Amino acid sequence: AKTWILTKHFEGFPKDSNFELKVEELPKPKDGEVLLEAVFLSIDPYMRPFSRVRMKEGDVMIGTQVAKVIQSNNPAFPVGSHVVGRCGWRTHTVCDGTDLIPIMPEWPQDISLSLALGIIGMPGLTALYGIEEVLGLKKGETLLVNAAAGAVGSVVGQIAKIKGCKVVGSAGSDAKVAFLKELGFDEAFNYKTVGSLEEALKKASPEGYDCFFENVGGPFSSAALQQMKNFGRIAVCGSISVYNDTTPQTGPYPHLTMIFKQLKMEGFMQSRWEHKHPESLKRLMGWLKEGKLHSREHITKGFENMPAAFMGLLQGDNIGKAVVAV
Ligand code: NDP
Repeated sequence: AKTWILTKHFEGFPKDSNFELKVEELPKPKDGEVLLEAVFLSIDPYMRPFSRVRMKEGDVMIGTQVAKVIQSNNPAFPVGSHVVGRCGWRTHTVCDGTDLIPIMPEWPQDISLSLALGIIGMPGLTALYGIEEVLGLKKGETLLVNAAAGAVGSVVGQIAKIKGCKVVGSAGSDAKVAFLKELGFDEAFNYKTVGSLEEALKKASPEGYDCFFENVGGPFSSAALQQMKNFGRIAVCGSISVYNDTTPQTGPYPHLTMIFKQLKMEGFMQSRWEHKHPESLKRLMGWLKEGKLHSREHITKGFENMPAAFMGLLQGDNIGKAVVAV
């Protein structure tokens, strides 16, 4: 088995020297255990902040993968079947199946299993719960989403369109903006070249925003809050602009805006609704099959390129879901 180890905690932006590729001999699976072979590995922003709190130096990098069962002493996971598992950055894993989720039996043959890490997986669920459980988005409302061309943001915008809303997206390149238009976003802009964020947000929706799906944090947040309608709702999903900061950000604190506009802001993690995952994945799959949702992936080939794919994600290389194909 090959594994990627976190040799040293990240300081600022990750570097090649934070990672080391190791080869290890795995034990044979015992009674109740299986041997998995990674097919697709997910590359996610959370790996950066979670590395500090969930990992120590020398640990295998955390992460989820779609894997094939290649040996099995556990009837729940027959040889040849596929699972989603939190195995970390490893090509092969021996485990007892406790944490494995079988790919849903009705998964269509013509849909890549990699989507179980994206639109029919954790990012898709995050988009759905943020919209339905946190924002309670209603038909006719206007929603703003940033990092809109990414795994979560691109699904957020599409679900909001399914719900009959006006959607405004912000992303970091003209190619991403074009992709958002293809997806049916009403307005989209490149936050890196737009000049004034305030003006761009005003122009895209002069009447303001009912809901804001927040993935980025930092100065974007402050600008977006000023453009909210009274009683606007904000779902704080992520804060990727600060993940590589070495000192915590201070202000501006938008308390006065929150008071005067009587805004409601709620942070969330998709795991809060874990009990709903099976039913929610079926709904996402239904929309995908009906052509109401479209998926785009940014696939990097080769397990040896995991660190490069991760660093690429943190500098915005990806359009859609970032995945490594082994
Ligand atoms: P994406 O596919 O959106 O990839 C990350 C994107 O973030 C990049 O492509 C880039 O797009 C943007 N980005 C990177 N650095 C910066 C920066 N400094 N400032 C602004 N934008 C930046 O990732 P995901 O869709 O997987 O995740 C999106 C957000 O959702 C993240 O904050 C993540 O942590 C969060 N998340 C939260 C979950 C929860 O349960 N709360 C679950 C899953 C994700 P661009 O070119 O547009 O800048």
